Amino acid sequence: MKSNNKDLTPAKTSEFRNPQISKDTPVQYIKGVGPARARLLERIGITTLQDILFYFPWRYEDRKNLIKICDLKYGADATVMCEVESAKIITTRRKRMKIFEVTFADETGYLKSKWFNQAYLEKYFKKGVKVILSGLVKGNLYSGEGLEMDNPDYELVGTEDRLIHTSRIVPVYKATEGISQKQLRTLMFNAVDSASFLLEEYLPGEIIERNGLKPLEWSVSEAHFPEEYNDIDSLNKGMSPAHKRLIFDEFFLLEAGLALLKKRETLEKGISFGDGGGLVDKFLKQLHFTLTSAQERVLKQIRSDMKRNLPMNRLIHGDVGCGKTVVALISILVAVENGYQACLMAPTELLAEQHFTNIHKMVEALGLNVLLLTSSSGKKAAGHVSDGSAQVIIGTHAVIQEHVEFKKLGLAIIDEQHRFGVVQRAALRRKGANPDILIMTATPIPRTLAMTLYGDLDVSVIDELPAGRRPVVTKTFFSSQKEKIYSLIEGEMSKGRQVYIVYPLIEESEKLDLKSAVDGAGALKNMFPEREVGLVHGRMHHDEREAVMASFKSGDVDILVATTVIEVGIDVPNASLMLIVHAERFGLAQLHQLRGRIGRGGYDSYCLLLAYHPFSEDAKRRLKAMESTADGFRIAEEDLSIRGPGEFFGTRQSGIPNLQIANIIRDIDMLEIARKEAFDLVDADPVLKKYPLVREALQKKWMGRLELIKS
Ligand code: ADP
Ligand code: MG
Repeated sequence: MKSNNKDLTPAKTSEFRNPQISKDTPVQYIKGVGPARARLLERIGITTLQDILFYFPWRYEDRKNLIKICDLKYGADATVMCEVESAKIITTRRKRMKIFEVTFADETGYLKSKWFNQAYLEKYFKKGVKVILSGLVKGNLYSGEGLEMDNPDYELVGTEDRLIHTSRIVPVYKATEGISQKQLRTLMFNAVDSASFLLEEYLPGEIIERNGLKPLEWSVSEAHFPEEYNDIDSLNKGMSPAHKRLIFDEFFLLEAGLALLKKRETLEKGISFGDGGGLVDKFLKQLHFTLTSAQERVLKQIRSDMKRNLPMNRLIHGDVGCGKTVVALISILVAVENGYQACLMAPTELLAEQHFTNIHKMVEALGLNVLLLTSSSGKKAAGHVSDGSAQVIIGTHAVIQEHVEFKKLGLAIIDEQHRFGVVQRAALRRKGANPDILIMTATPIPRTLAMTLYGDLDVSVIDELPAGRRPVVTKTFFSSQKEKIYSLIEGEMSKGRQVYIVYPLIEESEKLDLKSAVDGAGALKNMFPEREVGLVHGRMHHDEREAVMASFKSGDVDILVATTVIEVGIDVPNASLMLIVHAERFGLAQLHQLRGRIGRGGYDSYCLLLAYHPFSEDAKRRLKAMESTADGFRIAEEDLSIRGPGEFFGTRQSGIPNLQIANIIRDIDMLEIARKEAFDLVDADPVLKKYPLVREALQKKWMGRLELIKS
């Protein structure tokens, strides 16, 4: 508690600007920090001056209005200016706690304050000293005790030339254990005061002017300690001019990085695929359905990309079951009929196997060589890839392992992009001479947001489901309703349908996981002795798993018990009911994915969410969302609002920089503006030759992930 003394050190306007410091100077050299606090600050991600300057308050309090003691209201926050009338230290008998009690006065009345275990304050609060107090008013005028403020923020008037904690709009930071709000605010003040001059203006003047942006240094300092701009509501909504500038910058640097990634690719030569090799036509003839118009449209975009002499970099997104696989397959055929290899990379072994089985079946008649490549495939498989005998390679991450070499890779498809990052994409690209890249994701990203996460990609949307899909009735059940659940399951099976039962994946404990699924399968066998119950989980050997899946697909198995390994890619139209056990533990996107496995066969279908109490508010919202909509875009939007943008986008995984102050949802308009500016700038000057400061800022922001701008 001794360190509290530091709060009273007067904060002086910087009299000199230390030329030794830079943005990279460790934070411990800031006045009032030192090694111990530097360690605490590290916990909230602050290590350098730059970090501290960009650690913004999450809200503001208006303590500008100084009111008189007689106007204080019980239960409200207030700021008053008054004088010390008397002060004393009381030691409690039981716990030997020291309470420092001061009576303050102004011309309208008295106010009492108590500080606990801060007896040292006695030397500052002498009779007659003027102070400003800010805090919650307690006590009751009519109880005879009068008004009280316990542990208020205070400032001694006269000893400090600028007020930090009171009598102004005061920033409130996310503090961390070991540093009080007041201490943090003081050192933020010192940091801004002594180091904000380091922030050079790096944005081109035209961009600043065109968008009416405030200067960077001004904005940083105003966002911390508003002086000129005092609209508390705008500040709290992140809409002040300072915020506007800072949000613009975050988006601008994000988008400029993406623009550079995109630009680099368009500067490189790609493969120009011709058409008319015959494979695609043959395939389309044997296909037992006609493509939806959305599939047709997207295919047209892909084929025109593939024809161009530039590398394709396209994202296809569309809801579960919209038919992305056929689109991918036709693109594969285009590559193959041009004499190239094509690969499809999936996030899990099971999904890779599933794709392999499906695709193999679909192209068998065409006489293509399709190979499955996972971490368990041997040298021989890799040999087929390098000698070119494998034309289509379906696999997991194993595909981008170093020892895998392609003879002539022309097209790489990544399924389920949300688990792959920019980095893996680059690795895949290096497997060939600028192969075309197609990314498929079943996580429907709210349309307006797709451009951020995938700002370096062209985007196509398959926004139509094949005809004959039936909406899935979704309902939450509790453990007391198991009888009802069993009778629904029996009901579907007696109609000849099949059933999925999904157990949660508990990441910390794969064993426990397995146990719950194994136990579940056992219990079901007892419950439905006449039925065939199959079990699949992540720990099974590929062949074993494949055998169970095959007998589910053929209808020999009635009930498939599974861990979330069936989340993606499994396609059994006869399955009409899915029971998700411990549904409260699943993420929304995952629930939606799982549900996408049913309702594919034109039957009425049911998704039963079995939830166990107690569960969180968020879990409740997820279950509600599942019950109320089947629209992947609305699900994604709800997911985004439950989880918040940071987590939703998994920025760490995707390799794009984190956003500190901007909010992708709230600030979407600004995002569009910043994106346009960034893309225009990169278009005009692809290596940012004329903008070295922008380059430097980008390098910092992207932490070396933009190798391109070094060249
Ligand atoms: P996604 O990968 O987008 O979730 P799939 O490609 O697995 O969807 O397709 C789901 C199911 O719909 C598959 O059984 C597929 O054969 C079928 N399908 C795809 N396109 C069509 C279409 N145009 N008409 C009818 N069925 C289709
Ligand atoms: Mg799929």
